[in-house]
Amino acid sequence: MLVDIHSHQIASEPNIKKFFNLDITEEVLNFDLESFFGNNTSVSVGIHPWSVSENTEQLDFLEAIISDSRVKAIGEIGLDKLKGPDLKLQEDVFLKQIRLAERVRKPIIIHCVRSFNELIGIKKIIKPKVSMIVHGFNKKPEVATELIKKGFILSFGKALLDSDLVKEALKLCPIEQVFFETDDDQDLDISQVYEVASKVLNISITDLEEKIYQNYLELYL
Ligand SMILES: [Zn+2]
Repeated sequence: MLVDIHSHQIASEPNIKKFFNLDITEEVLNFDLESFFGNNTSVSVGIHPWSVSENTEQLDFLEAIISDSRVKAIGEIGLDKLKGPDLKLQEDVFLKQIRLAERVRKPIIIHCVRSFNELIGIKKIIKPKVSMIVHGFNKKPEVATELIKKGFILSFGKALLDSDLVKEALKLCPIEQVFFETDDDQDLDISQVYEVASKVLNISITDLEEKIYQNYLELYL
């Protein structure tokens, strides 16, 4: 069983555990529950930092659906210094979503752009018990080491195929703190990411599959 921890592609293959991401934009506030979920039975939901607004109904919407069994994780949520509203507002909504995730004990998928110090600071203050997965890791090995030390889990996708630095970063991560993803890349198959990772880590695909699946199971312990 392959795990795709963060995707914007509709799940199709039965041998892939995939978290399909649903963003609570202001537009979806008018949706009824069934059209919000569609056919998806395994989703991450949250207010993306780009979708954060002063409208508190987005948080109400999240709170209303967060215990639904289709919601497997809260995300993608986080901080982005390049895009989205004022960082103070992003932080405020991020904190509230972390607290909701804590309440229902579901893991968090994090979108973080140029805000790693702030992210680390927030984790230090809140000390959430739920797993915090930094998705789309594409930074230097030093950043990976820092995040791993602070207890974050890193999810690798397209950048792993393209960048030697990201390959180096993966090598430094304990396998217990690793996931893989396809994100919004329509041409990327999760098996390609596993393939590259198995070469980088010098372990068989079967072993890798087993270890990552174990990580998936432990998200809910
Ligand atoms: Zn994404």
